[in-house]
Amino acid sequence: MISEVESKVLDIIENSRDDIIEFLRRLIRARSDNPPGLYEEVSRVVMDEFEKLGFEVEVVEVPMEIVKSYGLETRRINVLGWIRGDGKTTIALQPHLDVVPPGEGWKVDPFGAEIIDDWIYGRGAADCKGSLAAYTYATAALREAGIKINGNLVVVGSVDEETGGFLGAKYLLDKGYIHADMAIVEGGTYSIRHATNGCLWMKVTSIGKTAHASSPENGIDAIRKMHLIMTTLYEYQNNIRKRKCSIEGIDHPTMVITMIKGGVKENVVCDKCEIRFDRRITPEENPEEVEEELINLLKNLMKVDSELNIKWEKLLLAKPAGPTPMNSPLITALKNAGRKVLNEELPVKGMTGFADSRFYWEKGIPFVHYGAGPRDPKDARAHGPNERIKIEDLINGTKVLAIALLNLIGPK
Ligand SMILES: [Zn+2]
Repeated sequence: MISEVESKVLDIIENSRDDIIEFLRRLIRARSDNPPGLYEEVSRVVMDEFEKLGFEVEVVEVPMEIVKSYGLETRRINVLGWIRGDGKTTIALQPHLDVVPPGEGWKVDPFGAEIIDDWIYGRGAADCKGSLAAYTYATAALREAGIKINGNLVVVGSVDEETGGFLGAKYLLDKGYIHADMAIVEGGTYSIRHATNGCLWMKVTSIGKTAHASSPENGIDAIRKMHLIMTTLYEYQNNIRKRKCSIEGIDHPTMVITMIKGGVKENVVCDKCEIRFDRRITPEENPEEVEEELINLLKNLMKVDSELNIKWEKLLLAKPAGPTPMNSPLITALKNAGRKVLNEELPVKGMTGFADSRFYWEKGIPFVHYGAGPRDPKDARAHGPNERIKIEDLINGTKVLAIALLNLIGPK
């Protein structure tokens, strides 16, 4: 049963349809490619919308000396929009402002925000400016309905999710700009994600010795040595797929060699060959143990072949996050809202990617990924050409969010 106040909130969103669409189109047109990290225009669009909707705006620009210490050149401008009430509970709604560069293969202008057959096209339409628009208008609907909330809602327009989130969500949490009791992080309209994989990126280099290619026995062939390393890693890749993870949607860990580089010249024995790999770590694994296991594989190889000289370097270790318990108020509220708005049972699953949610989880804050996106995530074409979001999914996501927030933080 939909209550009177719920139907009021839903009507407000229905009447805001054009505003939601136009806000998303302005967001898409405001380029926020990362790299390099362009934030001046997009942060302005977000600030203006927050102000228009009566949010309290808080701009948190990262000092340039910190930005530069990360090897970055451009301004990092986080924008937070608050609605404050009396109680203590704070819910953070966490999308991000940046998008990956457009890449090739577009049939439309990636920053044109064109509407074709009820789909809005453009880089960031789905990942995740659509969720940003949905969070903003779900929050605004509660305010416009005159609902007294028992706590605070904050929409966190943060930077750099696409490059790790260190000066965005992590910075805001570490510096105390956000104290949240729960977080809703970018996601789709038709499922709830309550856990994410972690990730280890490593660079592995085999060191050899150059020689004339006509007498290869005088050198140490780093490519041939790398072949041995890769064979071992591919065996490992097959083996870890047999390790089961009980979280649906994650199922098992994965590893893939993603980059390779090496060689001096056609007629020179190669003295240095480098690969990089991506190892996804499930919430049921221990990241330190995973790292150690891989290093041991390399160490053991060197014991077997005395000519093998392997160097390794950890490039990233992102910890897995969740699972947020199935009986948490967040999941209950979203599932109830899904029944009321969509007349369907939202499935709760884990996801294989990693995102800003891990920074909330590290602080002990439960999270779910939920937002605006299609039923089949592939239809969004996130990070690919012709990225898009369906208007219906955008509006539906906004409605589900508003009803869930009302349930979580509205009058009791
Ligand atoms: Zn995203």
